Amino acid sequence: VRGILGGTFDPPHLAHLAAAEAAYRQLGLGEVTFLPAGTPWQKAGESISAGEHRMAMTELAVAGVDYFGVDDQELRREGFTYTIDTLETVPPGEELTLILGADAAKGLATWHRYEEVLERCLVAVAPRLGVERTEVEDLVPVEVVWLDLPPLAVSGTDIRLRVATGRPFRFLVPDGVWRYVSSHDLYRERGRDE
Ligand code: ATP
Repeated sequence: VRGILGGTFDPPHLAHLAAAEAAYRQLGLGEVTFLPAGTPWQKAGESISAGEHRMAMTELAVAGVDYFGVDDQELRREGFTYTIDTLETVPPGEELTLILGADAAKGLATWHRYEEVLERCLVAVAPRLGVERTEVEDLVPVEVVWLDLPPLAVSGTDIRLRVATGRPFRFLVPDGVWRYVSSHDLYRERGRDE
């Protein structure tokens, strides 16, 4: 079974890795594929870093874990990207588990062709501060698996803001990501408007 963890990964951080690892271990997955989003419709109008930066950072984040990989297909697609289109590129015989944070899981039933997404995948959810289990269970029309990890209050938004305001973020992201953000001068300006 393959786990799929989609996201903007702007930047990828430790909560992404912890959720992927929890799913891998708890559900006995064969591998977890990180899927950086192209132009996610949920984030239309927000500025996100260039796909090549997000791809490079995601590669750095998973480096050294042989059961984690990155798929850049959504970055190569034109226009808005929808998860179902990506799931349809996986051969039907391969079982899939979608890995989501509780905030993202709450919105699942608003996704493009979400019934088909739910038919195709099991759903594994990582707890997130401020989101109750019951909120997710009320909003997702299938049974979900809760991942065994503590709620981690790390987010891309907070990291971007930290960089923009010169506050520490090392160790909230994998080392390679920390180096990449610093050496490419990412987020110095942008995080400030968020
Ligand atoms: P941003 O703050 O930029 O919106 P983010 O850190 O929430 O970003 P994304 O890359 O958009 O991260 O999220 C990818 C997936 O990881 C989503 O399913 C999201 O819910 C989940 N996720 C992100 N951060 C956490 C966290 N701290 N705990 C649990 N799940 C998380």
